[in-house]
Amino acid sequence: MNIHEYQAKALFEQFGVATPRGTAASTKEEALEAARGLNAGQVVVKAQVHAGGRGKGTFKNGFQGGVHLADSPEAAQDLAEKMLGQVLVTHQTGEEGKLVRQVLIAESVDIAKEYYFAILMDRESERPSIIASSEGGVDIEEVAASQPEKIFKEAIHPALGLQAYQARKIASQLGFTGKQIRAASSLFLAMYDLFISCDCSMVEVNPLVLTTGGDVLALDAKFNFDDNALFRHPDIAAMRDPAEEDPREVEASKFDLNYIGLDGNIGCMVNGAGLAMSTMDIIKHCGGDPANFLDVGGGATEDQVKEAFRILLGDSKVEAILVNIFGGIMQCDVIAQGIINAAKTVDLNIPLIVRLEGTNVEQGRALLNESGLALITADDLGDAARKAVEATRAA
Ligand code: GDP
Ligand code: MG
Repeated sequence: MNIHEYQAKALFEQFGVATPRGTAASTKEEALEAARGLNAGQVVVKAQVHAGGRGKGTFKNGFQGGVHLADSPEAAQDLAEKMLGQVLVTHQTGEEGKLVRQVLIAESVDIAKEYYFAILMDRESERPSIIASSEGGVDIEEVAASQPEKIFKEAIHPALGLQAYQARKIASQLGFTGKQIRAASSLFLAMYDLFISCDCSMVEVNPLVLTTGGDVLALDAKFNFDDNALFRHPDIAAMRDPAEEDPREVEASKFDLNYIGLDGNIGCMVNGAGLAMSTMDIIKHCGGDPANFLDVGGGATEDQVKEAFRILLGDSKVEAILVNIFGGIMQCDVIAQGIINAAKTVDLNIPLIVRLEGTNVEQGRALLNESGLALITADDLGDAARKAVEATRAA
């Protein structure tokens, strides 16, 4: 799960991570009030969407940039008015962009230098790791490609936590000197505390800045939380913004379905994550594109199957549905009944390719055959994928 920058700011404040003061506003009046309340010479107005690259983004109405400085509360209000209710396109949003419903109004700071700082779970070292760079504010992938020597990495022992010497080491690698080292390392330690306490899988601050006054501050924040640990953090779970998420995924999560939306046109309903991944692979292999990953799980109920089917059919990009079930714990007749029930409630007007195998396969096939549904049966996974791709080509 991701959160907005203004929400991340609240976590920064709670954990003592130095960051400029700021508040969110969802109307231009609120923006004016927020800017006045900061009582700062200059404020920054930032579009709040779950995507990076806002500074260099473009609004669909032609307005350039989702991050702007304002010299007065009135100027902040004007900027907020230009951004609110508009769709911002950045290199991370895709061309459809994201609707800006809120802006962050924060105290602006004079930047002497921008840095990159992140903590993430590094699967290679099997530890939380810090990634930091003296080249911040820009795309870190670009720095990694062109100046890899400017990226520093520090693995952290999960039981010992981030040690003060490690924090100081990173600070000096980044080029901080004197008092700045203490300011930077105390920010790193606070950030690590936050990362662990909140079960984050990633915290990215780009840029971390050194101000002309010598302060070290987190100026931007991208958070990623481990969904499996969210039950331990109802306050963080409450920060979820369904409007920012794929509506198909929001719907699927209501029914505990493991669903990930993709861009293709073949809807997939599979049991088991491994089988679901090989189904996507084989569709690709046959020249097609899956519209989703969906693992209905081993113990899916008829109702879950029905809901899953409804979500696949509700996706306007889907031109064919491929059901691939290997019934182990999951029973083929349960899947078949779920499909039949779903097909009754919706208008099934696209080809449905079914490959069933395993427990109760005969009952499942019989149910489908007697249902009167127009479906294409397949003998095995390869056959199913080929038929699904053919069906979309014909469409
Ligand atoms: P992103 O484009 O989505 O990553 O948004 P950021 O929060 O990183 O903002 C983009 C850029 O705007 C930063 O790299 C800074 O250069 C600039 N910026 C953000 N906040 C301030 C501020 O308070 N003062 C100044 N002078 N620049 C800022
Ligand atoms: Mg940034």
